[in-house]
Amino acid sequence: MNGLGCCLLQRGQPVAFASRALTQTEQNYAQIEKECLSIVFACQRFHQYLYGREKVTAETDHKPLITIFKKPLLNAPKRLQGMLMQLQCYNLDVVYKPGPEMYVSDTLSRATLPHQGPDTIHVRHAVFATETEYVQLDQAQHLNVTAFRFSQIAQHTGTDEVLQELKAVILDGWPDFKEDTPLAVREYWPFRDELNVQNGVLYRGQCIIIPKALRAELLKRIHASHIGGEACYRRARDTLFWPGMRAEIKDYVANCSACNEYARNQQKESMMSHEIPTRPWQTVSMDIYSYAGKEFLIIVDHYSDYWEVDQLPDLSANTLITRCRAQFARYGQPDKVISDNGPQFACEQFRKFAASWGFAHVTSSPRHPKSNGKAEAAVKIVKSLCKRAKGDGTDVWMAILHWRNTPTEGLDSSPAQRLMSRRLKTSLPVAASLLQPQVVVGVAEKLQWKRRMAKSSYDKSARDLPALNVGIGSG
Ligand SMILES: [Zn+2]
Repeated sequence: MNGLGCCLLQRGQPVAFASRALTQTEQNYAQIEKECLSIVFACQRFHQYLYGREKVTAETDHKPLITIFKKPLLNAPKRLQGMLMQLQCYNLDVVYKPGPEMYVSDTLSRATLPHQGPDTIHVRHAVFATETEYVQLDQAQHLNVTAFRFSQIAQHTGTDEVLQELKAVILDGWPDFKEDTPLAVREYWPFRDELNVQNGVLYRGQCIIIPKALRAELLKRIHASHIGGEACYRRARDTLFWPGMRAEIKDYVANCSACNEYARNQQKESMMSHEIPTRPWQTVSMDIYSYAGKEFLIIVDHYSDYWEVDQLPDLSANTLITRCRAQFARYGQPDKVISDNGPQFACEQFRKFAASWGFAHVTSSPRHPKSNGKAEAAVKIVKSLCKRAKGDGTDVWMAILHWRNTPTEGLDSSPAQRLMSRRLKTSLPVAASLLQPQVVVGVAEKLQWKRRMAKSSYDKSARDLPALNVGIGSG
């Protein structure tokens, strides 16, 4: 196909015709993009007739196009997304009509006028203006990926036999039936409408399709912080894609030696419930722990699970308070601080500090040592991140960054997103739009739900334990 052709019909009768040749760039578009471009061309050329009408039926002989019109805009590759956006102002109903019945527009697209420059006729100008936009819409610019890595992906895509075959099918258009698709690329069939090629790199929607040769290295990067398999997958699925990626990630994590060596003990959540906060940094827990012969202070935010670690040169109340002030200057004054009864916390200096910085200080009672479970759970996480980083000689701060950026199970958002309303930039490629700040809503409800679930399963297991406090007090 070297041209676009369209025909405006009213009650089955032709009213107007239009056609034009494809530009050099457009000739390299994927088949689905050419088909979509022809609808954009038709709508813009016949704008006077179509704009504001209750319903406009667009007939196409390209089946995948119909699917992509029904899916959320985000699933479409960037350039196709741009075209679909252009069509938002028309009430389009896209229907399939077999190719042989499309004789008018088919004839027109084969007998196009030679391509003319952008500013010949005024009407054309509008069409060409949008055209330029698509050309400049380079999907790679929307991804936060270094030029080096991008060229590496492009290079390996060029030598990956399956991806080259897939590229050919995307550019020529998919056959009507799955059985007619080359065997090697058949697993891409279910989402064929989301596939796209740009500058030698293949995309599924906004995700880069990773060539086989690079998958092992990316698996390593995805698991850089040694978080669990599902969490790794939640991170990766925003930006990367290959068939079977989820299973491969799980498999990789299950076989990670650093993880197996330091398998964490399952730890019970604190059941001495504190109120669920409604905003970030409202309630924080603190604890002092030692690791590798050094003392550390950890402060955990109950809303986001985000924690900060500070090394303490000594264990005096003064040093502790100085570190707290620096953290509060960064995140704000909390309403409530929870800690154990350590000497640095249960002292006059800390009481004064609480008064001048305006927060309530709650200490765990010896009867409920688990009430500081939040901080203790965070300490376990930090220690295991440190051990694993040491185990495989990687940067522990990088691991902490990845942990903070990983969506929490059951919450669909990461600690960083809940505290700072944004994703943090890491070494993994990410769509630039995903780095824009965005407030996460519904966190308190999800925390509530999570706690109910945890409590009910805790109560179930606790039922078997003998009651210890029979006869003491009135209960
Ligand atoms: Zn691991």
